[in-house]
Amino acid sequence: MIGILGGGLTGLTLGSLLPESVVLERERTPGGLCRSLNEAGYTFDFGGSHIVFSNKPERLQFMLSVLGEELVKNRRNTKIYYKGRYVKYPFENGLSDLPLEENFECLLEFLKLRLKRARGEVPEPSNLKEWFEYKFGRAIAEKYLLPYNEKIWRIRPEEMGTEWVSRIPAPPLEDVIKSSLGIETEGYVHQLEFYYPLRGGIQRLTDTLAGDCRSIKSGFEVEQVSKTLDGFQVSGDGESYDFESLISTIPLPVLARVFDGTPKDIVRTAENLRFNSLVTVMLGVDDPKINDFSWVYFPRREDGIFYRASFPSNYSPETSPEGKSSVMAEITCLRDDETWNLSDDELVDSVKTSLHRNGIIDKDSVEFSRVMRTEYAYVVYDLEYQRNVSKLRKFMSGEGIELCGRFGRFEYLNMDACMDGARELALRIGGGE
Ligand SMILES: Cc1cc2nc3c(=O)[nH]c(=O)nc-3n(C[C@H](O)[C@H](O)[C@H](O)COP(=O)(O)OP(=O)(O)OC[C@H]3O[C@@H](n4cnc5c(N)ncnc54)[C@H](O)[C@@H]3O)c2cc1C
Repeated sequence: MIGILGGGLTGLTLGSLLPESVVLERERTPGGLCRSLNEAGYTFDFGGSHIVFSNKPERLQFMLSVLGEELVKNRRNTKIYYKGRYVKYPFENGLSDLPLEENFECLLEFLKLRLKRARGEVPEPSNLKEWFEYKFGRAIAEKYLLPYNEKIWRIRPEEMGTEWVSRIPAPPLEDVIKSSLGIETEGYVHQLEFYYPLRGGIQRLTDTLAGDCRSIKSGFEVEQVSKTLDGFQVSGDGESYDFESLISTIPLPVLARVFDGTPKDIVRTAENLRFNSLVTVMLGVDDPKINDFSWVYFPRREDGIFYRASFPSNYSPETSPEGKSSVMAEITCLRDDETWNLSDDELVDSVKTSLHRNGIIDKDSVEFSRVMRTEYAYVVYDLEYQRNVSKLRKFMSGEGIELCGRFGRFEYLNMDACMDGARELALRIGGGE
């Protein structure tokens, strides 16, 4: 029997593919980050706004095959809220939405950079700040990329590495010139069209997978993992299970803590892995249509504590009662910091006030509000990331524990990559179809 620690998307995908397995999940409802709140006719993905997309057709097909027929296909209409105006996303494709002087500055800096790079005058970037300046030029970096990234990661971009940046497409020269002149271009194109479940929110995906799992023990928090003569014993809540092999999708720092063979220096390494927590503020609004946007980014602190506001009622009409709309604000923080510890009322009030001031909603039209907190939301790639994570993976691999998933591997993975990783692992360790 194979033990799967954690019943988020990755654990459930594994459980659905491995017939001889048991999924052990702490929460009563499996699904992890892919869970949805369904209340008062509203549906919100409270682990953050989720859309179904992939740059790999096969991965997208796999997700769609699990989701079945009842899907909405949307075209992305996403903006960046910048000094009271909406700039098309990605920013480098929306330069003509900027005041003329700022548009010119972005274009000029971009062209100067390309010239300097062609002459070999710009050194290779060694951190995230340098990478942004190297790929986009100083002006685009300073106006949008640096403040936005500092807001979401809660760490200065010069203190971050570049291991994850392959997911950010660099803009072709032609596109930047066209965007500055106001000729329509699109960036980040594999996300231009996306899918969303008609009903039930993103949890439809994990609910379907959970239905295909042979056995799930939910409400079971893994508190101890020990090695036995012929495998592993996993204990928690006064119960224990024996397994021949073990896959962990629970956060790597948690695994390092509960595995009783972890030496002190490995525990310390695990404690040094950085991650961000997430607060979501969900609002139901008595307004048939707030706007046509999919979501809007907020790079500037003065425009709100949230880095993004999404509009679930524009993903699927079934996510809000008839004649109403919805908006969800996402705020990153550190576990137990000042933001995390704000009361729900304070958070709702702060979000409502900013959205009202930015002209997005009428504060008085909010008829429903909820706040949720998620401890493990984003892996933070600080400059120590690679060293720390390699050391931990090597140790767990030596102990025979397979790591899979976003926090299991401690890697910035989206749903498609999590499901794909689970599929590959299921095939490799056998029994998977
Ligand atoms: C804000 C945000 C927006 C996102 N948007 C998108 C998007 O639009 N598209 C996309 O493709 N991806 C998106 N993602 C990424 C996506 O959510 C993840 O890739 C995916 O959900 C990760 O699944 P997982 O199972 O690996 O991890 P998790 O969902 O974190 O699952 C881990 C599970 O382990 C359980 N667990 C933890 N500790 C224990 C313990 N001690 N014992 C037992 N169980 C335990 C947890 O309860 C959880 O269920 C987004 C993520 C965030 C944070």
